[in-house]
Amino acid sequence: MTDLNQIYFDRAKAVIPGGVNSPVRAFKAVGGTPRFVKRAQGAYFWDVNDERYIDYIGSWGPMILGHGNPVVLQAVQEALKDGFSFGAPTLREVELVEEILKLVPSMEMVRLVSSGTEAGMSALRLARGATGRTKFIKFEGCYHGHADALLVKAGSGLATFGNPTSAGVPKEVVQDTLVLEYNNIAQLEEAFSLYGEQLACVMIEPICGNMNFVRASVEFMKRCRELCTQNGALLVFDEVMTGFRVALGGAQSIYSAQIPGFKPDVTVMGKVIGGGMPLAAFGGSKAVMEQLAPLGPVYQAGTLSGNPVATACGLATLKEIQRPGFWSSISETTEMLVSGLSKVAKDLDLDFSADCQGGMFGFFLLPELPSNYAQVMKSDGALFNQLFHGLLNKGVYIAPALYEAGFVSAAHTQIDIEHTIAVAHEVMSKLKRA
Ligand SMILES: *Cc1c(COP(=O)(O)O)cnc(C)c1O
Repeated sequence: MTDLNQIYFDRAKAVIPGGVNSPVRAFKAVGGTPRFVKRAQGAYFWDVNDERYIDYIGSWGPMILGHGNPVVLQAVQEALKDGFSFGAPTLREVELVEEILKLVPSMEMVRLVSSGTEAGMSALRLARGATGRTKFIKFEGCYHGHADALLVKAGSGLATFGNPTSAGVPKEVVQDTLVLEYNNIAQLEEAFSLYGEQLACVMIEPICGNMNFVRASVEFMKRCRELCTQNGALLVFDEVMTGFRVALGGAQSIYSAQIPGFKPDVTVMGKVIGGGMPLAAFGGSKAVMEQLAPLGPVYQAGTLSGNPVATACGLATLKEIQRPGFWSSISETTEMLVSGLSKVAKDLDLDFSADCQGGMFGFFLLPELPSNYAQVMKSDGALFNQLFHGLLNKGVYIAPALYEAGFVSAAHTQIDIEHTIAVAHEVMSKLKRA
């Protein structure tokens, strides 16, 4: 049988670097041919060979309602009739921002942009502009988009700043980025004692989906908050993945419930707020947000920002996830998947650990849940690749890299989950360590 995926991938590779417009899609980590998607509906997509897959990526998070939700589809179709883009204000931008503010009380004002990268980059500039400081802290394993100053890995020692993780990023641009180990309170304290009054912000993924699924401990988060407050640095939550995904109020609502009075100073959002359209945002207190142009000295702009079709899609999505029972239902489905996979692994005596929150999950071929990047990377990559391809060949599509999270949508049914667990049992029972 001709594999159209391979034919299209070859064609793509001739004209698009690596054949893809975002590197992870190329299957480089796991090998093999990426699936070209023809269409998607609910919990499934079909590739160009008309093979069906249960989709546990959902566009890397945005498709929390499943593909082609009829309410969202209608909102988008109505919006399209009135125009694609104006480069002038629309009421729907105000409505979307009001909706976000209602659901995430730490923010008083929000600016809309088009991608998570843009939102993270702008939040960093805002934190630097608002504090008049340049140094900041990020954590190894957290991804905040591909802005120059954020493409950094840890240097050789704590007193040294980071090294670029990409060619084309000048060393000078990352010399103020301090990269620390996630969940390491002693390192955090040392960094603040060395640089506290020079730090603009601490930027963190509160539940890190770019390390598959690693939670910041409550103690660690509490210490981040205290040290930022004591030193006049801003605590920036990157909730591009977790926002409206792990809970209606984002990951911050989970920490607020455990740390009295807790809130971040600035929040970065993306993915779910666009419902699959290019839309992202960053927000915080009025005092901080009023530093932005045209009110303040921190410049930021975007031709397509607050796009009328994207805001329609985002607004309809945010309304749908507020339906009664939505969160208990999606959490239940996700937990069913995670506990089912864990049981299969346990029965087969396979090293396995898993965690989930709301509609986001992660699992590791490790005996215990990791708490930082170095521990995540101890995973057996070859074993993961066998698991990945085994699932893929049987129509279950998970992320093609062991450090990426998984996503369940409201369209996933108990039958989908049971089928997935049965497939996983078959595949896991054949895994062979090298
Ligand atoms: C996806 C993601 C980004 C980048 O968003 P893009 O829309 O891909 O630019 C930033 N931060 C986190 C936590 C993300 O998961």
